[in-house]
This record gives sequence, structure tokens and C-alpha cells, in this order.
Amino acid sequence: MAEPMIEIDNLGKRFGAIVAVDGISLKVARGEVLGFLGPNGAGKSTTMKMVAGFLSPTSGTARVCGFDVVEHPIEVKRRIGYLPEGAPAYPDMTAEGFLRFCADVRGIAAGERAARVGRAVELTQLASVLYQPIETLSKGFKRRVGLAQALLHDPEVLILDEPTDGLDPNQKHEVRGLIRAMAAEKAIVISTHILEEVDAVCSRAVVIAGGKLVADGTPAEYEALSRHHNAVSVTLPAARSAEARDAIKSMAGVADVELADGGEGRVRLVVMPKRGQEIAQTLRGLCADKDWPISEFHVERGKLDDVFRAITTAKGKEQPHA
Ligand code: ATP
Repeated sequence: MAEPMIEIDNLGKRFGAIVAVDGISLKVARGEVLGFLGPNGAGKSTTMKMVAGFLSPTSGTARVCGFDVVEHPIEVKRRIGYLPEGAPAYPDMTAEGFLRFCADVRGIAAGERAARVGRAVELTQLASVLYQPIETLSKGFKRRVGLAQALLHDPEVLILDEPTDGLDPNQKHEVRGLIRAMAAEKAIVISTHILEEVDAVCSRAVVIAGGKLVADGTPAEYEALSRHHNAVSVTLPAARSAEARDAIKSMAGVADVELADGGEGRVRLVVMPKRGQEIAQTLRGLCADKDWPISEFHVERGKLDDVFRAITTAKGKEQPHA
């Protein structure tokens, strides 16, 4: 692995009888965008808070750029930008006042402050609401004020707890683009419930359930575990579908053929391969030999939500690396 910027070793957190985080270990290198996935209450936010130095661990250690979060909290906070869950505090401040305040707290020199705030405002596209009190902003803009605050000091490590929560589709797209653009120079951790976000921005994702890390892999590795991995959709006129289904079913490597409505008198055959085998080329050959009037031929990569459900409902069954 390239230079690890975050090193978590056997990290744990108890709240009384509740074990929120139960011995998580992982490393995040510069250039990585790591997704934290997991059901509600899995321990994602608690882990992020400990890495950001906002909660102290009950056991284990977390290091940011080589600094232990408990022993060197100031060094850690200098190097980290943290977007907590929900909205930033101080709702009666304007967005600009809040960012100036955060710049002061961060110890950014007065002469540099305007430029730093300006840059964060530009990156998060806040200019239109800069002089409005935060409490009057929409959820999406509040979220972006929080993100701007996390970027003010251009930190090497970013911990973003559901960064696109509450944003509209265009804003989600912008923020994902921003995360991708920053990724090469930083180590970034984001938590999300949106599985397409993993595909859109994460180079790697871990699944956390019941306070434990239960899977770790790249989006492609997760997709390869899906029952839809390498499945092929073939759309053709309904009149030819029974013949096509029977012929395709007897092809080597085909586990099953499912039928779906293809619209306008057509049927979509979803051809499921045995254990993710590649069947597209042979299937294309068969379609050509039979001269079926195919209107769509599409190879699936796999569905992350299938895999997420399998991992979080039957722990230990389908996972890239536990
Ligand atoms: P979500 O996806 O809903 O945000 P999460 O994975 O971020 O969930 P956490 O917020 O880390 O989960 O919570 C993990 C567990 O710890 C939950 O059972 C939660 O109720 C509990 N918990 C979190 N903070 C506290 C606290 N301050 N006091 C007591 N229990 C807490």
C-alpha cells in the first residue's frame, strides 16, 4: 500500500452496555477514497468521530499522518477536515461569518483568511447564500457550509460523514466530482447509504455491521459477487421469446433465463450465468446464428445492493475480504 495516512488498529468504543465499535482495523492511503457502508447503527459515525478526535476510543488506536489521535490531538486536527453528520452548529451566523470563525479557530493567519474562505466557498459553490443566516438555508446548502468548513485548511485527510445527504441530484453530482478531484492528494473517508455513490467516488469500500468490519474490497470486487455479475439482457419481439429462452437455457454456462417486459410487444430475457461466468460472446454468436431481431443486448456488471444485502444479512457469506 502507498503511504498510509490513516491507521486504525483494533479500535473500539462502548457507550455503557452498548458496543458501538468492536475492534475495527484498517489503513487508508493517500489517493484512496474509502467508503464506509453499513446498516443504521453499525458504528460508522462513531468510528469517524474517533478518527477525527471528537470521541475518545475505549480500546485500540487510531493514527492520522502518523499522529495518535489521543496523544497528539492538535497535530491530528491540523491535518484533518471533518464533516460531521447533520448540519454545522451556530445557526444564527451567516455562512460567511461561520467560515471566518472556523478559519480563526483553525489559526489561519488574518492575511490568508479571505483567500482560504474564498477558495472553500468556490469549491462548494456557496457564493449565492454567503450572507444568509445558516438556519435559513436549505438542507443541501447547510451541508455544503459544513463541507466548506472541512476544506478551509486544505487538509491531507478528509472524513466526511454522509457528504451528499440532503443534496439534490445536481448537487450530489458536483460534490462527488469535488471529492474525486481532491482524491489524488488526500486520503478521504466517506460514509454513505447510497450504493451508487460507492461506484461514483470510492476506490475501495468497507462494510461495517454490528461494530465490526465485515468486508473490504473495490467496487469491482463487490460487483463480481453479485448474482447479476456478467448477466446479459437481451430484448427481442415477444413472438420469438419462447424459442430464444429455450435455446439460451440449453447453452453452456447459463444458470437461468428470467423474463421481463421489454415494452412495445417485446420481451427482455435476463440471462443469468453460472457463478459469474462470461457468456456474452457465446450468446452474441447464438443470437447471430438464429437471426433473432435483437433490439438491445446489455452485459451487467453486478448489483452492489444485492451484495450489500447478502453481506449485512448473512454475515460472512459473500465478501471480498473480511
Ligand atoms: P447511521 O447509518 O444510522 O448513521 P452509524 O453506522 O453511523 O449509523 P453510529 O451512529 O456510529 O452508527 O452508532 C453505533 C451505535 O452506537 C448505535 O447503536 C448507537 O445508538 C450507539 N451510539 C452512538 N452514539 C452514542 C452515544 N453518544 N451514546 C450512546 N449510544 C450511542
